[in-house]
Amino acid sequence: MAATVHGFQTQVTKLLDLLANSLYSNKEVFLRELISNASDAIDKLHFISLTNADLVKDDPNFKIRIRADKDAQTLTISDNGLGMTLEEANSHLGTIAESGTEEFMKKLTGDKAKDSQLIGQFGVGFYSSFIVADKVTVLSRSINAKEDEGVRWESTGNGTFESENIKRTQRGTDVILHLKDSEKEFLDEWTLREAITKYSDHISTPVELWTEKYEPKKEGEEEKDQEKKYEFTQVNDAKALWTRSAKEIKDDEYKEFYKHLTHDYQDPITWAHNKVEGDLEYTSLLYVPKNAPWDLFSRTHEHGLKLYVQRVFIMDKAEAFQPNYLRFVGGLVDTNALPLNVSRELLQDSAVTRKLKKALTKRSLNMFEKLSKDREQYAQFWTQFGSVLKEGPVEDYENRDAILKLLRYASTHNDSDVQDVSLDDYIGRMPKGQDKIYYITAESYEAAKNSPYLETFKKKGIEVLLMWERIDEWLMGNINEYDKHEFVCVTASDLKLGDLADKDEKEKQETATKENQDLIDRFKKALGDKVKDIVISSRLYDSPSCVISDSNQMMTNQMKKMLEAAGQKLPEEKYTLELNPEHKLVKKAYEEQDENRFDKWAELIYEQALLSESGGLKDPSNFVKIMNTLLTD
Ligand code: ADP
Ligand code: MG
Repeated sequence: MAATVHGFQTQVTKLLDLLANSLYSNKEVFLRELISNASDAIDKLHFISLTNADLVKDDPNFKIRIRADKDAQTLTISDNGLGMTLEEANSHLGTIAESGTEEFMKKLTGDKAKDSQLIGQFGVGFYSSFIVADKVTVLSRSINAKEDEGVRWESTGNGTFESENIKRTQRGTDVILHLKDSEKEFLDEWTLREAITKYSDHISTPVELWTEKYEPKKEGEEEKDQEKKYEFTQVNDAKALWTRSAKEIKDDEYKEFYKHLTHDYQDPITWAHNKVEGDLEYTSLLYVPKNAPWDLFSRTHEHGLKLYVQRVFIMDKAEAFQPNYLRFVGGLVDTNALPLNVSRELLQDSAVTRKLKKALTKRSLNMFEKLSKDREQYAQFWTQFGSVLKEGPVEDYENRDAILKLLRYASTHNDSDVQDVSLDDYIGRMPKGQDKIYYITAESYEAAKNSPYLETFKKKGIEVLLMWERIDEWLMGNINEYDKHEFVCVTASDLKLGDLADKDEKEKQETATKENQDLIDRFKKALGDKVKDIVISSRLYDSPSCVISDSNQMMTNQMKKMLEAAGQKLPEEKYTLELNPEHKLVKKAYEEQDENRFDKWAELIYEQALLSESGGLKDPSNFVKIMNTLLTD
């Protein structure tokens, strides 16, 4: 039967072009990818064979073998793992399953150095073969296939591949790379040994390399007479990294293992390796990536830890061990406390899982806490994962304070949009008499920083935390205090300044109200039922006005926007308008004798306040018209 020719999925073709044309700075990574695939295939079969030992009885020793053939200029990576059927080879080696591919293609910048960094994040490992090979042949036989249902798959990486059934006696897979002339160095024993050691030292399967056999020269024998002999020798120590003692493991080994585990090309920013004995026995190795995956906020984002039971790989992306807000933490957990045949469903409602989840959550939070001692590293961490961590205090009540401690904000103290102020920093700077934590949420950093509500705080020298992320308003609406200090939004109608309020402020305001009764009345007449009330402000210095909504009104601006975007009709909200009678604009308006023109001034002053509160107006062109009339007359 002749082989069938298939076209690659378009995305694969694009990817292959990219791989072939990118100046790959680190070509040897193809070895990591192929060893990793071989090791995955062996892990899977190992797991199945636990309940069906017959499957592997004719070839019981799992191993990966690598053999260079200088004459044929080929490098072959073989495993006796699960193997592939013809259908599996066609789909797994012809398409990219991950939904991220599309996104990956969008992210490509054309800058080769940057793009090659991206490749690793998207699980396109097999195709990295084409970095060094101009033809790749895969021979395989699935554990579920008969002898004449073996597979030959072959491609030169130019748009198509061919595949067919062949006869194959042994199970498992050979990946045969026909090396490009420029990549002959990968036939060299020492180059290979070095790269393989680097990428396989943490793998629990033996990796063997075809090496020249050393035989002492016999008496009187000429060098050239001696025929070279070869044999397979094991090059890694085949001991799972996490089972070793942390003291013995070098940073580079942790980093390399991370890349093997997660397919990330970049080093992790930090990690935590713990062995726990006693009641609940487990070993965990948790990692924080340097950069957030593109789909961290997407519902399709797959996350979770690799689960091992007594060093046997059980499942990938077991999400039951982490709360959602820690979904960016990668790594593994190995425990004796779960049965080998545990399923995802069983995991979900097992008491052991719950205990592990609790313990691993603490481990993650501790790891961040440690990282926070390094300002620069933590700043990188925060820009990548800060907004996910903000989900924590609501999701995880038990660790609320520990998570709040890790949050960082911009504040009026720094005059910059860099989020590096912790709540502890803030509390440490509180002047005597202040016991609340003041904050403002707005549409943007600029809107927060320039908000008229901050004026009284600036005057009094009180720091205010500036927030403008989508999640902030929701988070602040759900937490009340940190370390016994109440959170207070500076736009609250009953601003609790406590000891910080001027003793006679209320009195002053009452006098001011009496003195300005005429002003208030004229504004009331002009604005009518557009506003709820009009009062003289005690919080404004540089701005003419601001609007206040009821503090018991639960809906925030962001929520309103979301509901409106979803097509909901919301009742018109009425604000109380606060006036600053000392402001030039208000004075100027008051001097206006023509009531028609005064109405325009009143509207301008009111809509200005609305604009800076909500960042938008119902009828912006009307606002512009009024302003222009007043400016040009
Ligand atoms: P990933 O490993 O992230 O899934 P790859 O491109 O490295 O992506 O591999 C694609 C798929 O091809 C694998 O998921 C697996 O199903 C299959 N595959 C690759 N190599 C092997 C192998 N040696 N044995 C069995 N299946 C393999
Ligand atoms: Mg792979």
